[in-house]
Amino acid sequence: MRSHLLNDATAESYRRSVIEGVERVADKLATTRRPFTGVTPADLAPVIDAVDLDKPLGDTSAALDELESVYLRDAVYFHHPRYLGHLNCPVVIPAVLGEAVLSAVNSSLDTWDQSAGGTLIERKLIDWTTSRIGLGPAADGVFTSGGTQSNLQALLLAREEAKTDDLAKLRIFSSECSHFSVQKSATLLGLGADAVISIPVDRTKRMQSVVLAAELEACRAEGLVPMAIVATAGTTDFGSIDPLPEIAALASEYGAWMHVDAAYGCGLLASPTRRHLLDGIERADSVTVDYHKSFFQPVSSSAVLVRDGSTLRHATYHADYLNPRQPVAMEAPPTSEGLWGKVPNQVDKSLQTTRRFDALKLWMTLRVMGADGVGELFDEVCDLAAAGFELLAADPRYDVVVEPQLSTLVYRYIPEAVTSPAEIDRANLYARKALFASGEAVVAGTKVDGRQYLKFTLLNPETTTADIAAVLDLIAGHAEQYLGETLVHA
Ligand SMILES: *Cc1c(COP(=O)(O)O)cnc(C)c1O
Repeated sequence: MRSHLLNDATAESYRRSVIEGVERVADKLATTRRPFTGVTPADLAPVIDAVDLDKPLGDTSAALDELESVYLRDAVYFHHPRYLGHLNCPVVIPAVLGEAVLSAVNSSLDTWDQSAGGTLIERKLIDWTTSRIGLGPAADGVFTSGGTQSNLQALLLAREEAKTDDLAKLRIFSSECSHFSVQKSATLLGLGADAVISIPVDRTKRMQSVVLAAELEACRAEGLVPMAIVATAGTTDFGSIDPLPEIAALASEYGAWMHVDAAYGCGLLASPTRRHLLDGIERADSVTVDYHKSFFQPVSSSAVLVRDGSTLRHATYHADYLNPRQPVAMEAPPTSEGLWGKVPNQVDKSLQTTRRFDALKLWMTLRVMGADGVGELFDEVCDLAAAGFELLAADPRYDVVVEPQLSTLVYRYIPEAVTSPAEIDRANLYARKALFASGEAVVAGTKVDGRQYLKFTLLNPETTTADIAAVLDLIAGHAEQYLGETLVHA
């Protein structure tokens, strides 16, 4: 079994195995004609069930053959131009290369003595990001597993910085379109069930700052404490960006922590043409970015950034075995910088302990393509969404909700013949499911004012307006078929 350990003696076998795996995936990518096969859980469950995990195949080629039927054949492929579903991006090759390297070396970014240069690479990328945001010289941050964790950590810092220990008094303000991780974080942080005050959005799905101001005033009048305002820079459904400068002004007026959830909109930080859409973000106390959404990075790759690096101490805990409070060398400083001089331990800033070197993927991406390269790709999908909006707005079969600021389109099929709103809901839901089952394209769904809508999240620069038009035809076909059948049976 030692032959499977990756080390000096097995370097050649490592090379062969990985190349064999890469060949299979490359072949798959080259021959995949649809984003999905339409397989159902009932189809696939027996295939997985039939695998006996206690009877290993013992051989890489055999395991790869099996992988074809248990995973690769029926996976949902985000690189396909007709995958228009959730906030998943096709990934760039330098990042995938970075992924292969970081797994093989397997650094853990909690302490310097488990990563060395990896720690410095992560810190440099954090500095790069905070300077793109404009957070100033004291800024800092850390890579996280995703936007959910970044939001949780940001709100933890906000809670610790709040001017009361009475958790029941703390209030968080975020728009009705903010991500559910805000509510989840409030619960995890021990705040009350009504700690999150949902602020309505305007027609363009941006937080109404006038209502926010009124709610902040009411909060103060009731003797409650405005702990944080969460502005979303790129809502998950609409890509709408809350009015950051107005929110920043209110945050400072009411002494609230300003968190900007830019999990989706962070791609604008690299955009050569649209960076201004994030104006005001530089006034945030903390920012969430998901490189795995709009920087074309493989999952996971995310970070939380803070204006004042010292606030990260609220996530600092010490263990004698890992990052002792008083390193020996500090008690008795040696003459020079010393063997253990100033050792940067990223665990001091993180909710995680053992932690992936995700930063390497972004590093490779920036070193090969540069920030403009990434930003141009994100610009392309924003341009595509604008063109898609024109298509939808001109199409009598569809109602489209809002002109996109980023790269999502929310719309619904509206039949010519008069039917009930509930029937229209069902037709749209049916069309989405039928499309998924056909595997021809993948779209998402959401609700707007209680009604069923469909959603394109456009993150693939290879998707064209012709793809969008073709998918709209497919959806209309499925919806019409559904309505036709229900009429027949009525
Ligand atoms: C996706 C998303 C999140 C959650 O990020 P994960 O990486 O999925 O954990 C948070 N906020 C917004 C606005 C998002 O779109």
